[in-house]
Amino acid sequence: MAKLLEGKIVADRIKEDIRSQVQLLKNKPVLASIIVGVNPGAEAYVRSQTKTAETLGIVYQLHKLPQDTQEGALIDFIKKLNDESSVNGIIIQMPLPAQIDYKKISQYIAPEKDIEGMHPANIGKIVFGKANMLPCTAAAVMELLKETGVDLYGKEVVIVGHSEIVGKPLALLLLEKFATVTVCHIGTSKAGKLEEHVKQAEVLIVAVGKAGLIKGEWIKDGAVVIDVGINRIDGKIVGDVEFEGAEKHASQITPVPGGVGPLTVTMLMRNLVEAAKAR
Ligand code: NAD
Repeated sequence: MAKLLEGKIVADRIKEDIRSQVQLLKNKPVLASIIVGVNPGAEAYVRSQTKTAETLGIVYQLHKLPQDTQEGALIDFIKKLNDESSVNGIIIQMPLPAQIDYKKISQYIAPEKDIEGMHPANIGKIVFGKANMLPCTAAAVMELLKETGVDLYGKEVVIVGHSEIVGKPLALLLLEKFATVTVCHIGTSKAGKLEEHVKQAEVLIVAVGKAGLIKGEWIKDGAVVIDVGINRIDGKIVGDVEFEGAEKHASQITPVPGGVGPLTVTMLMRNLVEAAKAR
């Protein structure tokens, strides 16, 4: 039976460190969060972030903009926050109304306040191994991998999913560790090659959003499995990997929920404190 990689345990340890760093700062770090319109999903994230911020001594400043806000107005608002010296980090809650293109507007956040690590300048630094603001989910996965104690040097690492927030930055971060990285995606599945790649993985990271995509019997004996996927099936939250089958083969595996999820918001707060320290 595989050992469970529980995100909360790692997150609690990192939060302790964040708390002590916050105490050393002259002013409490300020996180400015922008929510546009009304959306229950975005509001749930805001509640969870507010709670985490409170426990860490971080000021969570919520800015609610109307549903019909246009891109120009949102960009002006972001620029105002960029110029506001008391604000250390800015995040834009997803999803956004249809008239707003996240990729376009997120580029207006000053790179030093981009605590989600999604500004092209911050993404670009990953290529050079010099990133100080990592995308939060990719950073969460790297923390869990650290927790496994597995030396990534020369390991066969397979990532399923090549999104900008998870798969692509992770591939670069893992190359920095000299892992042999294979990135699979929809094209791999369509070519009928997903199973053969997954079967080679000594470390498997899956971030797709399709329950049961990865069959338990595909997992190599002794593999480390990190399941980033979040799917709601019959009112239950499950990942992308068939957990029961996979845990028979894996040496360590993340539960869903309770694996990557609890660490993601902690990574956001860590980026914020780094931004506050850098100023
Ligand atoms: P995305 O939709 O941007 O990308 C999905 C990726 O999966 C793409 O690379 C696509 O090519 C690939 N894909 C789709 N169908 C496939 C198939 N049949 N076979 C192989 N690859 C396939 O997704 P995302 O934003 O990276 O999110 C992925 C999952 O991770 C979602 O379930 C999301 O909810 C979850 N997620 C969790 C956290 C967390 O904190 N735990 C954070 C971010 C995302």
